[in-house]
Amino acid sequence: MAYQALNEQTILDYIKSRPALESIFPPDAPLTAKEVGDGNLNMVYIVQNAGAPYQSAIVKQALPYLRILGESWTLTRERMRFETQALLQYNKLTPGLAPAIYDVDDEMSLIVMEHLNDHLIMRKALVARQRLPHFADHVSTFLARNLFFTSDLYLTGLAKKTLLAQYINPHLNKIQEDFVFTNPLMASPENQWNPLVDDEVQRVRTDGALKIAAAELKAGYMTHAQALIHSDLHTGSIMLNAQDTRVIDPEFAFFGPMGFDVGALLENLILNCLSHYGHTPDPDVRTEYQNYLLAMVRDIWQQFAHKFETLWVENNQGELTPPQYWHYAGGEEAFAEFRRRYLLNLLRDTAGYGGVKMLRRMMGVVGVWDISSIEDTSKRAVAERLAIRIGARWLKAHQQINTVDDLIAIVKEEMAVQETRVAVQG
Ligand code: ADP
Ligand code: MG
Repeated sequence: MAYQALNEQTILDYIKSRPALESIFPPDAPLTAKEVGDGNLNMVYIVQNAGAPYQSAIVKQALPYLRILGESWTLTRERMRFETQALLQYNKLTPGLAPAIYDVDDEMSLIVMEHLNDHLIMRKALVARQRLPHFADHVSTFLARNLFFTSDLYLTGLAKKTLLAQYINPHLNKIQEDFVFTNPLMASPENQWNPLVDDEVQRVRTDGALKIAAAELKAGYMTHAQALIHSDLHTGSIMLNAQDTRVIDPEFAFFGPMGFDVGALLENLILNCLSHYGHTPDPDVRTEYQNYLLAMVRDIWQQFAHKFETLWVENNQGELTPPQYWHYAGGEEAFAEFRRRYLLNLLRDTAGYGGVKMLRRMMGVVGVWDISSIEDTSKRAVAERLAIRIGARWLKAHQQINTVDDLIAIVKEEMAVQETRVAVQG
């Protein structure tokens, strides 16, 4: 079917015309459709059988422009192809950690997938101080498997580059290159920040060491085709409940540095941790949940590093260093040392990318709901000031980070300064 943007009416006939969906909706089912996308880019519909509401599906369609910015901001519909390919890849490597795919229509730039009707967007769960006992396990598996199995540690050079060629995603890359790395750190008309933290913002934009570090990380984002990364793995791209975790929305997917994904996730947990200065007035309740989130950050990294290394040892068939390469007296120790360095560099990338992304959320065009939803600007400034100070330190110190506890220590030091401010002000 030639491309046409669907609406709540036309989508119903479209669904009935798709053979792949006959197993989801019986032919005579009275279907209803409702647009629910709270995202920035695309249209998202829930389609439901009014006679049997548990029969439902999500239809996501790309428009030829950016939804939040309007029709003058054209953006290629091809982004839905990257999202589709990545979701199918996740279904293969980490079944149950992404929505199941029911139908794909490339010409219509559209995908039909499992309706996660018992799940919340993770940011909302975290602002509500929910406990997520399986999240660290689930997300570390998602990261370890999807990153390892698409890297040169597992694939042949030919297989890796053949896969990489399907993910040349320059238009979506450019959005991240401009709006994560560059524009927030210089004067640019779309930037937004709270005037109460203007001193911190100006300090960041004129800090030479920080600007060099961010430029080096941007160069890595543009050139380091390490593995298939999601490239927008914030807590708005995760839907979950206490038992179940799903990653959605991989339209930015391409071959880039692994630390960009791990950093995005950890950084979003830190921003949520800071948001509780606004959302959770009781200091005991607040501290307890903040410590819970910091323990989660440690747990995610440690489980990820362990799972990634175990996959490597058990599946060392990539052409980067084939098994024979280490077949000599002392080779086993050298291989172990190579793995240690690889994971250390990955942690340092995580720190650097996490730091840059924390800054962009505070002084670029896109904030995070966890913090932007704090209405009182002076309460919001508490979280924003800390986020800028922590982001700047993660970024500038990223090459000196040796363990995940170094990252957490920076967060705790800055939070302790905040507690002192409160104590002084009485
Ligand atoms: P965008 O690319 O426009 O950011 P998202 O993929 O983030 O779109 O989806 C926007 C919103 O639609 C999500 O925040 C979520 O509320 C809802 N949504 C998306 N996919 C699903 C799904 N499989 N099940 C339930 N809700 C979904
Ligand atoms: Mg989204």
